[in-house]
Amino acid sequence: MLIRDPNEVERWVSIDGAIRNRKKLLADIATTGAVARGHFLLSSGDLHSALFFRFRHLAQDKDALARAAGELFEASGLDRRSSERIVLAPESAGAMLADQLAHELGAALALVRLDDGRRPTKSLLGKTPLSGRPVLIVNDVTTSQSALDTLVSAAREHDGQVEAVLVYGALKRDDFNRWLVKNALIGTSLVSLPFERFAASHCPGCREGLPLLPAAELN
Ligand SMILES: [Zn+2]
Repeated sequence: MLIRDPNEVERWVSIDGAIRNRKKLLADIATTGAVARGHFLLSSGDLHSALFFRFRHLAQDKDALARAAGELFEASGLDRRSSERIVLAPESAGAMLADQLAHELGAALALVRLDDGRRPTKSLLGKTPLSGRPVLIVNDVTTSQSALDTLVSAAREHDGQVEAVLVYGALKRDDFNRWLVKNALIGTSLVSLPFERFAASHCPGCREGLPLLPAAELN
């Protein structure tokens, strides 16, 4: 079931920082049905959740995608002018955000391949050279930051210089910010998605006998 009521969305999702279009961003999440409620098996492991954020739904609305990208870049405080910048993302829903940002900034886009589990690898698709250039790492939603670790390694292995890490949503904003500090990186997240996750033994969805949907297949 998709949560279409903005007030209900606001119960589960919060917009970080001083964002101009706060209400509009929440409305975009509601109208595009980006938050699903149900019983989901998360791709990050064997955890279950009653809520799942589908950036792909939001990104299918051209205006909502443009607003998300615009606000995210604005919140980052980065300089728009950077002639050599590369935007780097995994070839998943994050690529839709990265493509929009690259287009707005007049930057080149580079994507990394996914493995069989739909996790990013360090292997680049295409031939955009990263060597010596500022690399803006972009993803849709970060949970454990492990995909971001891989993207940072990919940029560095191809001799790119990581400029910043921008994500639309973070499961736990504090964890994302601590990860930035630990890695001496700068970056920004726009939306907090503090969805509770459960081991199967403690999962209310399992207790109720709800069908379990693999989140990876929805994304
Ligand atoms: Zn469960």
